[in-house]
Amino acid sequence: MEYAVGEFVEFIDNSNQRERRFGRIEAIVSLLLPQDSDHPQDALKMSRLLRHNELGIYCSRDRSRRGHKELWMIEEDYQIIPPNHIVGRVLVWLKDVSRPEFYDFQISEILYRDAATNRIQIRPVNLRHRHPSEYVVAPNLSPVGNMKVFKFMIDIYNDDFGTFRNVYHSLGGIYIQIGNMPFNLRKQLKNHFIVGFIPFGGHFDDVMRPLLQELHQLEKGVAMDMDNETVWVIASIGLVTADMPQGNDLCDVKKQGALYGCRNCLVPKDRLTDNTFDRIRGARFHHVTNEHFVQLQTLIDQGVTKAEINNFARRYGLRSKQGVLSSLSRDRHLQTPQDAYHAIAGKVQRFLNITFDLLNDNGKKAFVKYWRCFEKPSIWHRLPNPVTHLKSFMFSDALQLAMIMPFILKRFLAPSNIASADLATLCDRLSSSSNQRRSNKHVINDIISCWVIVADVAAHCFKLKMSQGDLNHLQEALMEEHGILIKVWYKMLYCQ
Ligand SMILES: [Zn+2]
Repeated sequence: MEYAVGEFVEFIDNSNQRERRFGRIEAIVSLLLPQDSDHPQDALKMSRLLRHNELGIYCSRDRSRRGHKELWMIEEDYQIIPPNHIVGRVLVWLKDVSRPEFYDFQISEILYRDAATNRIQIRPVNLRHRHPSEYVVAPNLSPVGNMKVFKFMIDIYNDDFGTFRNVYHSLGGIYIQIGNMPFNLRKQLKNHFIVGFIPFGGHFDDVMRPLLQELHQLEKGVAMDMDNETVWVIASIGLVTADMPQGNDLCDVKKQGALYGCRNCLVPKDRLTDNTFDRIRGARFHHVTNEHFVQLQTLIDQGVTKAEINNFARRYGLRSKQGVLSSLSRDRHLQTPQDAYHAIAGKVQRFLNITFDLLNDNGKKAFVKYWRCFEKPSIWHRLPNPVTHLKSFMFSDALQLAMIMPFILKRFLAPSNIASADLATLCDRLSSSSNQRRSNKHVINDIISCWVIVADVAAHCFKLKMSQGDLNHLQEALMEEHGILIKVWYKMLYCQ
């Protein structure tokens, strides 16, 4: 019996070997067992389906009544199982797609944990990210039966760069990488393949268009000669990475200043910093976006006015025309993630600016003095004076400085280094956000603790290996950082 990723099956439950459970094969993963760490084993990542009596507070009379024919998805506690723990196939109808001829169970709701409240919530099955297997273009079979088959993931990058530091008459570059390559190969310069350059005023779509036909062919399969052997190569898009505003363009979402300017969720502009927004239920879902574009096309075909088309696009925060990548098989929202490097480094640069602005002349002098004599690792390249040359700092420079900021500040920062008006405002802000009177000395400590959190978050974001503990720590640190940056610094800068 052969099973495919994305199929629903019955399997032996990890937590109770005697129990059978229904679930979906989400992915095939490699598992390193501690006793045999040289030979990774194939294993399956399973999501679980719940029966009505496992729904906890959501087990209503109505759901119990539907329970003999219905199961519920839950988006947590995935299990890793060996392939031989699969018992058999089960046919499931996800009720947001058309009804199959035969099925054993139907699914109309999903349980998930809301990040803000940490409570289990329930949402209709239509609001889900469909499994990649539901989008994939079925490739052609190789023309000869025993031909080797190679599958590749192509990652696309689009980045602007200037010829010199900070001289920004930008030129866009598009390059690709093979996503299957291990990280140590992928990061080498020779493994970045340049597709082309976008001249000033040019467009990504125009440069990509000639390549598009080849990408379509690759999705279906192409015969290639490799080491005197003809092999069958299948490839499709992995991740698309780009800065703002191109990142939004590439998944057909309006610019970040729009009412709905996030490419991953539908948070309105005035709630961008609101932690209570349910970003799981309120996410952008690829198939929903597709439906919107179909509706938009209908409007255009009916010859409605330009204003009506713009209105429609504004209501969903979508561009009025889809880009070329939309013809490839991919989930435009999930496969165009936010660029953590730009987000974190951009935030650090901003916070450096704010910190230096707080310092009076004495403070600035003291900072430079302590920064100069700080015992930096010898392999670090020399940076220009951060107080006077912050504008010419690249992201990597800012992140390097962030690592040592808490130590430098700790060595010299005193209330006398901060402009007195700013010190008074900070005292008030911190007092009201912590509900207790903060002295000048407290304020100094709070500034240093802020830098400790910011540096800690940056360090955890870029760890090459993440354990569950690291992830939990990062989540908590981000929440704490969010609280302090929004309550104190944002208000101090913009709402005085
Ligand atoms: Zn969002």
